Amino acid sequence: MPIRRLPPEVVNRIAAGEVIERPAAAVKELVENALDAGAKRVAVRIERGGLGLISIEDDGGGIPRDELSLAVERHATSKLVASAGGGVDLLNIHTMGFRGEALPSIGAVARLAITSKARGADEAWSIALEGGALDTARPSAWAALSDNGTRVEVRDLFFATPARLKFMKSERAEMMAVSDIVKRLAMARPDVAFSLEHDGRMSLRLSAEGDPENEGRRARLAAILGGDFAPNCIQIDQRRDAVRLSGFAGLPTFHRGTREHQHLFVNGRPVKDKLIVGAVRAAYQDLLARDRHPVAALFLDLPPSEVDVNVHPAKTEVRFRDATLVRGLIVGGLSHALAGAGHRASTTTAQ
Ligand code: ADP
Ligand code: MG
Repeated sequence: MPIRRLPPEVVNRIAAGEVIERPAAAVKELVENALDAGAKRVAVRIERGGLGLISIEDDGGGIPRDELSLAVERHATSKLVASAGGGVDLLNIHTMGFRGEALPSIGAVARLAITSKARGADEAWSIALEGGALDTARPSAWAALSDNGTRVEVRDLFFATPARLKFMKSERAEMMAVSDIVKRLAMARPDVAFSLEHDGRMSLRLSAEGDPENEGRRARLAAILGGDFAPNCIQIDQRRDAVRLSGFAGLPTFHRGTREHQHLFVNGRPVKDKLIVGAVRAAYQDLLARDRHPVAALFLDLPPSEVDVNVHPAKTEVRFRDATLVRGLIVGGLSHALAGAGHRASTTTAQ
């Protein structure tokens, strides 16, 4: 067989396999887009665990009419900053998105409709993408959260990839994953109001809490993790060079059987990072039985140039430029805070 270029819809479908592995991944991408657009309110509606409908409405800046068709084009993004040399700086990422892959990927495997009213525009416009085929933009009615914003509706996810559809767990399990990711994103953004509705029932409603740090964060974490979270935690705020570790770490008496209760964020991005997990484990090493895990919500903030988020399409893995410094800050910071609260490890692992 001769070598041939794959048609774009096939390329997008392959990419979708990596970026959009289940409904929760689509929700994550779409909520991140809303946050990148400066939304202060994000309303998520789900039907049948996300396989029937995912609808995300925001009050962000919207997409101008003449950019709607670009938004669903592969590798098209408004988010990468041009560097001095005219190229693009992958080490200076301040947004949640940057790969320009989410919308075309979703559009390749589902029926995607975007309605948006850009800030300052007189009219809202819609565009539809179905199994990779694009419809022209048309004017649309707009009765939404605010004068400007975007509503993205995804219907029949994976209808174009029946094999993937077969791998889906129960609607209930998919919904739990959706709820989990919305909560994780909301933990990092107490200044944004979130709601989540499943099959017509409101399952989460979080009002905006002014101050994104301190009181706002405490209130948001309590709303999501329950009233007993903060009182059973030590508040952390440590710095080393330009790296800051803040948030809440559970007292050694407040432990769980799984690590699911450790919520980790790097520059506001929920991550699953081996280095951070390992550092947390090291800090609690002598304070907890091997099979017990502390509860925590930890926020690591560092200059974007110190961390590579372009490791995996789902962007949940990161790489630190100075891993030793980050590990030292976490182990040292947590050990110090725990010791201050009267829980000193027998052999201090702090550096
Ligand atoms: P990325 O987020 O990596 O740029 P996406 O495929 O998710 O790629 O989105 C493509 C582009 O569409 C974004 O760069 C942005 O300009 C625009 N966009 C997507 N969602 C929204 C939204 N909710 N509000 C405003 N603009 C959006
Ligand atoms: Mg995006």
